Amino acid sequence: MCGFIGIFGNTDVAADIYVSLLNLQHRGQDASGMVTFSNRFNLKKGDGLVRDVFKEKNFSYLKGNIGIGHVRYPTIGRGETNDAQPFLSNVPYGIVLAHNGNVINFYSLKEELERERLRVLNSMSDSELILNVLADEISSQLPFSVDNLFRAMEEVFVKLKGSYSAVAFIKDKGMIAFRDPNGIKPIIYGIKGDNFAVASEGVALQAIGFEIVRDVLPGEVVFFDMDRKIHYKRLREEKHYPCIFEYVYFARPDSILDGKSVYEARLNLGKELSKRVRERLLDIDLIVPVPDTSRPAAVALAEELGIKYREGLMKNRYIGRTFIMPCQKEREESVRLKLSPVKEELFGKKVMLVDDSIVRGNTSKEIIQLVRDAGASEVHLAISSPPLRYPCYYGIDMQTRGDFIASDKKEEEIRKIIGADSLTYQSVDGLVKSVSCGLDMNFCTACFTANYPISIDSSDLKRIEYDRVNK
Ligand code: SF4
Repeated sequence: MCGFIGIFGNTDVAADIYVSLLNLQHRGQDASGMVTFSNRFNLKKGDGLVRDVFKEKNFSYLKGNIGIGHVRYPTIGRGETNDAQPFLSNVPYGIVLAHNGNVINFYSLKEELERERLRVLNSMSDSELILNVLADEISSQLPFSVDNLFRAMEEVFVKLKGSYSAVAFIKDKGMIAFRDPNGIKPIIYGIKGDNFAVASEGVALQAIGFEIVRDVLPGEVVFFDMDRKIHYKRLREEKHYPCIFEYVYFARPDSILDGKSVYEARLNLGKELSKRVRERLLDIDLIVPVPDTSRPAAVALAEELGIKYREGLMKNRYIGRTFIMPCQKEREESVRLKLSPVKEELFGKKVMLVDDSIVRGNTSKEIIQLVRDAGASEVHLAISSPPLRYPCYYGIDMQTRGDFIASDKKEEEIRKIIGADSLTYQSVDGLVKSVSCGLDMNFCTACFTANYPISIDSSDLKRIEYDRVNK
């Protein structure tokens, strides 16, 4: 999971890119980067949060009315500085690109590109690979024209497998946005006067005053040329499988993804979860969210069950999201740094905590103990998504089955390990019903169901798993 923003404006865009990246920070905290164009590409990227990477002095050279920004959360690659985005290719024309997703044939395609097209890739980032495939295909379709660009993109879609939503700027030609044929990861574009912008989530556009036009469709290319004319072409018409976990956890609740409100989806998750909790005939005094993602689900759950809702855990806002920290040690150490119990609310109460998911179980165990230590007489746990059991190969850092406590354990075993008095998961049907908001829709649910919308070659799969285990 990553976040990007691309802006084609009239005046310097660096400040707007900075604001947008702050609004996308939840999508990646590992590295941040920005490139602008003013007769040359001006690039600044580094490890860390947006506020740490960009200093006031950087804005004196980040000049230009066109630019791309990125926040990274590593999937392919080891998360080294070299892998930070955006990436730049000098040939042809000069192209910069940033993306979100995961190219699942990364290793085989990288080798092919280096062997047969004599391109040299300097990082282990699939964004650099996408950039080089795009550059190579544009070079094969010269002279440049919009039709030839669409022809080049047809080949890009054939070569790249996996999930990729991307924005690129081609010097003196225009800004291009595209989304993989199954539309797994979000991408949305907007306008402000004759300015154009594209981002991973609408919140990044709204924060800088852009009016949202619509999501880029699966298999579609949107091109904004130097005369500020927008060209669209849907090159592939395949089934749309947006990532359902975006609605559960990743996206900001004030975002609308593919026409559906993330906040509404999370409220629905709480309503659906109430059906399962009710079946258990539990005696609960308080519903308490594990902040922040699960708050709407907890509110709806409390309303449905007629149980008091309280903020029993306070979050230190200056500690990063634990799930997306790259190593387990950091995650474990950060729970007590991140959360603090409100003892006055919890003492002597039968508490039901609501969280969005359980990955490895260590965080849940620590939070439950934290609430017990604060004096709760019982600690129950309700999860707004079903058990996470299967690896994600499309852009989330959980690519081996060993990442999940539920991959080989039943719910009762998990309950005992994490030390809860009861454990209630959402059903897969409840999840899909909640997120589709009454519409007939497909989703990628592979990490819950093993129904993978895009198959992965076994040698690529082995390389991905080896890379993750030896990270
Ligand atoms: S496997 Fe899960 S996290 Fe990955 S894209 Fe599919 S729904 Fe999203």
